[in-house]
Parts: sequence; structure tokens; C-alpha cells
Amino acid sequence: MTRRSLTILGATGSIGTSTLDLVRRDRELWDVVALTANCQARDLARLACEFGAQVAVVADESCLPELREALAGSGVEAAAGKDALVEAASRQADIVLAAIVGCAGLGPTMAAIEQGRVVALANKEALVSAGDVMTAAVRRCGTVLLPVDSEHNAIFQCLAGNDAADVRTITLTASGGPFRDWSLERLSAATPAEAVKHPNWDMGAKISVDSATMFNKGLELIEAYHLFPVGLEKLRIIVHPQSVVHSMVEYRDGSTLAQLGPSDMRVPIASALAWPRRMTTPCAPLDLAAIGELTFRAPDEVRFPATRLAREAAEAGGAAPAILNAANEIAVAAFLAGQIGFTRIAAGVENVLSSYAAPAPGCLSDVLAIDDEARARARQLTQAVA
Ligand code: NAD
Ligand code: MG
Repeated sequence: MTRRSLTILGATGSIGTSTLDLVRRDRELWDVVALTANCQARDLARLACEFGAQVAVVADESCLPELREALAGSGVEAAAGKDALVEAASRQADIVLAAIVGCAGLGPTMAAIEQGRVVALANKEALVSAGDVMTAAVRRCGTVLLPVDSEHNAIFQCLAGNDAADVRTITLTASGGPFRDWSLERLSAATPAEAVKHPNWDMGAKISVDSATMFNKGLELIEAYHLFPVGLEKLRIIVHPQSVVHSMVEYRDGSTLAQLGPSDMRVPIASALAWPRRMTTPCAPLDLAAIGELTFRAPDEVRFPATRLAREAAEAGGAAPAILNAANEIAVAAFLAGQIGFTRIAAGVENVLSSYAAPAPGCLSDVLAIDDEARARARQLTQAVA
């Protein structure tokens, strides 16, 4: 692999930290351009100094004094706010890793895409919300969009060297989350602490709740729909509790290609960082004999309606996926704050989807306006049930 420059949007998060762990092991290969965070000024400053970043940016402007103080004398520039995030995302870098959580990452991710280089995408909510607006920008700017989400990274690898016209189905695997075997009655009493304890993956709080509700798989269905344009009817979901097979592509001759690996995000992150080559990771090798059994079962959309809601939103197209995503972000935050019960997340999203329609977004500001309005409606609803 040749030396390359890297920006990480969301450097202090679970994906950002895993990425920097890989960079730390191959320090001489990487020039770090920009690192960003929401408000963790001290953590961000420490990382920016360690990796010799040009600039460190906090989204929350009230954290700028703390960031400035922590970076004093280091030679790293300090900046804050939405415009500073966009400016950092636009700086020349060979690869920008989009790892902010939620639609908050959309503006900077679009700015990185506009540069026409390589964007490694973990921030699925940005693609779900912007959909065609983002994929059109990718095509217009000649950007290479590399999926970091483990399922999409698996599919990307299984599609390499094949023609999309020969694909019969694409199957996303789902662990089923921590409540996989819980009854509806038990689900209604699930607590935030139980929801963030994922059996296989160690992730940020929001995606952990999404995994528990299956909204994560719903968002991933819409993400796959945009990344791999084979048609929604060819996209399937299967529950695979061991999280060893990360997804599969079935071809029309009856061959199914799958990508397997340990449940460690450093594997798909490394695949994107080193693309089109490979890099060494410290991840434990896959020991199939120790795992023993791989099992699969159909998803249950009665207990977990999220995948049905996402499929319906993808079918409806236009503004629906952005509305679904925004309503889910608000409902997850309300659940984590103890304001609504677990099963109210999907119920709340369904409610917002059925009470708000908007014309299809044609540009980034349309998407942001839809996102804003859907959030306001979701907030009213969650306050109403609280
Ligand atoms: P996280 O909560 O651990 O980290 C999020 C990062 O974004 C942090 O650096 C945080 O400071 C920053 N951030 C949060 N809110 C922000 C805001 N309003 N403005 C600017 N920055 C903000 O999240 P994560 O688990 O690392 O997930 C990041 C993204 O990657 C999500 O979209 C998630 O769905 C996706 N993803 C994560 C995993 C995983 O294993 N963690 C796997 C697949 C995909
Ligand atoms: Mg995933």
C-alpha cells in the first residue's frame, strides 16, 4: 500500500476509534488531515496531537474554548461549528471516512463527496436520508464510495469481478440484536441498558438501539438499495445470530458468494482503507471449528416491524426514507433518555411516516428541511406519549 492522507469525520466514536487503531499500527503509511467530533474536545485534541492532524473540529461551538486550550502550542488548528466541519471535510485527502452518527453527518459527508476522491461510508443515516441526492453527487463528482458497514462491505467484496445484471438476490445478515428471542410483552419493558448491550458487536449507543429494534437492518436495506442498484425486490434479510457471514450475493447460475469474518469492525474498515489492496489487521482469525455452527432464520416482522417500515419507505421513495430516519433518531434519543418505552420507537416512526408527506428532495437543503420537519413531528409525538 502506498502512503495516503486521511480525514475522519467522527474520530472519537466507535468506528473512528477502530480506524485510528489501525492507523496507529501502520503510522508511517498515513498522513492525518482532519479529525472531528461532536463535543469531546479533550479526547479529540489528544487524538489530533497523537496523529499530527492539520485541524481538529468540534461540531458543538460551545466546546471550542476547551479544544483551543487543549491544543495550545501543538500546531494543530482548532475550529468549531457546522461550517468548520464542512470545511474540514472538503480539505484535500485521499480518503475521507464518514463516521458521524445520524443525519448530522450528511452535510460534511456530501462536502467530502463533492471533492471527487474516495469516501469510506459508515454513516448510513446520511445515505438513507439523502438517497438519490447523494448517489447523483457521487456520479457527478466521480467519487468512489466504499461501504464500511460490515454487510455492505461484504456485498461489495462479493460483487467484485461480477456483473450486477447476473445477481439473483442479495441477502443482508442480521444478528437479531440482544432481544432476538424476547416476547412482545418482554420487549415493551426493555430498558436502555439492556438495549445497548449487543451480544456480538461493540458499537455506539444509537446503532446498538437500532440493532435491538432491527431499525439498523431497515436502514441497511435502504443503504443497500442505493449502493447496489439491483432493485428492492432482490434484497433480502436473514437473521444469523453468530454474525460470521456478513452478507451474501446469489447469482443466476445458482452460486452464492458470502464474505465471512470475525465480528470486528476493523475488518471492513481495513478493507475500505486499503482498497483496492489489502492490509494486515490484528483481528483474531476466524476459527470456524470453535464456532461450530452457523444458523439462519427468517426475521419476525411482528415483534420487529422496523424492516417492514423501511421496505415500505424504500418502496415509497422520495422523502419517506429521510422521514423514517429522522423519526427513528428522535425516538431512539427519547428511549435512551427514558422518555418512551422500547416498542414505542417503531410505533412512533410509523406514526410520523403516516402523518407527514413531503415532495421528493432534489438537493441537500431539501433533505435537511425534510429531516428538520420530521424531527419536529417526532418530538411532538414522543412528548405526547411520554
Ligand atoms: P458513536 O456514537 O460511537 O460515534 C459517533 C461520532 O460522531 C463521534 O465521534 C461523535 O463525536 C460524532 N458526532 C455525534 N453527533 C454529532 C453531531 N451532531 N455532529 C458532528 N459529530 C457528531 O457512533 P458509531 O457507533 O461509531 O457509529 C458511527 C456511524 O457508523 C453510524 O452511522 C453507525 O450507524 C455506523 N456504523 C457503526 C458501526 C459500529 O460498529 N459502531 C458499524 C456499522 C456502521
Ligand atoms: Mg451493519
